[in-house]
Amino acid sequence: MANTTSTLTPVPAFSDNYIWVLSKDGRALVVDPGQSEPIEAFLKEYQLTLDAILLTHHHPDHVGGVETLKALTGATVYGPLSETLPACDVRLKEEDEIFIEGVGIRLSVIDVPGHTAGHIAYFGYKDNETPLVFCGDTLFAAGCGRLFEGTPGQMWNSLSKLKELPLETLVCCAHEYTLSNLRWALAVEPENTALQQRWKTATKLREQGLPTVPSTMGEELETNPFLRPLQEKVAASARTYANATLDSAVEVFACLREWKNNFK
Ligand code: ZN
Ligand code: FE
Repeated sequence: MANTTSTLTPVPAFSDNYIWVLSKDGRALVVDPGQSEPIEAFLKEYQLTLDAILLTHHHPDHVGGVETLKALTGATVYGPLSETLPACDVRLKEEDEIFIEGVGIRLSVIDVPGHTAGHIAYFGYKDNETPLVFCGDTLFAAGCGRLFEGTPGQMWNSLSKLKELPLETLVCCAHEYTLSNLRWALAVEPENTALQQRWKTATKLREQGLPTVPSTMGEELETNPFLRPLQEKVAASARTYANATLDSAVEVFACLREWKNNFK
């Protein structure tokens, strides 16, 4: 058996979505194909057979290409238990495990409600060694998803699960929102040197038209305010913004989400 390693690629779609492809030995899985065309082109260019389509939540920019891709390839579609999804074959919930044979990866499911009510994330080890998480619109580079169907308490609980993943976990999120997130994060924590450095690195990447993702959980823990509501400077900034005491992590988190929503 050839000892090849798998390849992880964020394929751009729409104006700022990424459709993740994990491929190995001519076989592939995709995550959240909101459009089929970019994936059809990718599969053709690299001569890949699509075995699996993984869905994190029901939004059209994540599921729009599912039916076409499934019809073209016969791939098995996996998705969250409780959401309305096109052509979903296998329904998943927390602690379920799936094995994608062609690509050779085992993934476990984490329930992460907040952005939508039934949002899930997929965690596993690429080539049995590098941890990665497909987290959809829950955790972004230096940000987090908007609360369309959930409460701040739910989202904080979901992010708390993700932040327990290994520090080297590749955070494979579904949008290129990094610069706008970082601009806001710098308003929250102007003195965070890791954040200042991240701004420089991300700006350079975007100037070259390159993705800023995946990041690692370690980077997120150092620079993403949404993962650190109890950090002294983050909490102090939120209290000043809200002009309120904000005692708990959830209260600070709710304030940060509100602040980001209104940030221009
Ligand atoms: Zn979404
Ligand atoms: Fe989205």
